Amino acid sequence: MFESLSDKLDSALKSVTGQGRINELNIAETMREIRRALLNADVNYKVARDITDRVKEKATGDEVLQSVTPGEQLTKIVYDELTRVLGGEHVGLNMADHPPTVILVAGLQGSGKTTFVAKLAKHLRSKGHAPLLAAADVYRPAAVDQLRTLADQVGVPVYSVEDDGQIVQDAVRVADEAVAHAKQKARDVVIIDTAGRMHVDEAMMKEVADIKGAVDPNEILFVVDSMTGQDAVNTAKEFNEQLDFDGVVLTKLDGDTRGGAALSIRTVVEKPIKFASTGEKLDALSEFYPDRMAQRILGMGDVVSFVERAQEQYDEEQAQQLKQKIKSDDFDLQDFYDQLQRIQNMGSMKDLIGMIPGVGSQMKDLDLDEDAFKHIEAMILSMTPEERSNPQILNGTRRRRIAKGSGVEVRDVNQLIKQFRDMKKMMKTMSKLTGQGRSMNLKKLMGRFGG
Ligand code: GDP
Repeated sequence: MFESLSDKLDSALKSVTGQGRINELNIAETMREIRRALLNADVNYKVARDITDRVKEKATGDEVLQSVTPGEQLTKIVYDELTRVLGGEHVGLNMADHPPTVILVAGLQGSGKTTFVAKLAKHLRSKGHAPLLAAADVYRPAAVDQLRTLADQVGVPVYSVEDDGQIVQDAVRVADEAVAHAKQKARDVVIIDTAGRMHVDEAMMKEVADIKGAVDPNEILFVVDSMTGQDAVNTAKEFNEQLDFDGVVLTKLDGDTRGGAALSIRTVVEKPIKFASTGEKLDALSEFYPDRMAQRILGMGDVVSFVERAQEQYDEEQAQQLKQKIKSDDFDLQDFYDQLQRIQNMGSMKDLIGMIPGVGSQMKDLDLDEDAFKHIEAMILSMTPEERSNPQILNGTRRRRIAKGSGVEVRDVNQLIKQFRDMKKMMKTMSKLTGQGRSMNLKKLMGRFGG
């Protein structure tokens, strides 16, 4: 899904990875790349500009955190923006206080409407509902047959009106009677499949509007083929002007879709995307969550949770204090111990390593020694406060005592002290190089002490 867009965003974001900080220069080039990627994916140009403007503002503003790398930070900002244009929060179906809930489904022919109706029935059934499908696509006998076939697979009944074996071509009547039938038969949801045309046309719109007027649906869903890009957005606009629908269903997201429809429709039409359809099979339907979709587009969902967890562990004040300590060379073993505690609060070592992009997949199966942390902690805890703040006083006798106290060998203590010295040097160099003394380079820290 959205592979080309994902790849291009990835390479745009990579261009700031490894740079000390986000500045006007590197952000401008990155924003150009991101905008190009979005336009290539057929995202509406206003939406693309809006996304890059907001990302730029946030990335160069005060909000930049010190505790993650610029690449990670920017990824998180882009992720937040994508989530926003995709709608922010998940929006579910409007259900009636007094059943049956009536759901009217509209869209162009071939958009995947009938397939969606069956999928929705299946989805609602799995949630304990008893749907009834109304075959209001009355002009093509094949359409009613198709609905029946799909409904059989899902195990839900279909309501249609026939006279002498002929389908009665009165969509409003079918919808109206289906609702009455549902009440009689205690079916708590009626899903109305309407006729679509190849293009938006007046007769089709009028018919759907008439059904709306007759049954007063709780929910009107507009189904659209996401492969049609900006056409999908324009069709959505026209349907919305006529019908004032409640939600959008994006179909064929499993196909070679570039992402333009998904990323533009919410902003242009101002209606939430409620479902995503990702295949011809009847269980290929999911409720739409903007944040999950943004994660998938960026192909870096794990980094997002990594940054979120880091944010939970550090407030800016603490980060500043730490930065000061590193600058003035006051970072000691007690501080180191505190940092280790924080890292562990973020999750298991294996999980954390798995979140590092690029590294993640290769390292996931590695047999990591989670005990490495425990040993380091035990050694630090066996030190006196004076030793922790002043590791240079750790002579041979003290080291033997610490090894004994923490159940490790003297060479482990030696190694810890050496690693700690190296890390201090590294942090100092980093603080000089970047001029900002990043409080914690989690990845490097983990790389060094992760067993
Ligand atoms: P309708 O004319 O709007 O009722 O569209 P249909 O439900 O008949 O679907 C048109 C075609 O698209 C059919 O061949 C479906 O199997 C296919 N289709 C529907 N939804 C999806 C989807 O999410 N992914 C894929 N790949 N195909 C779909």
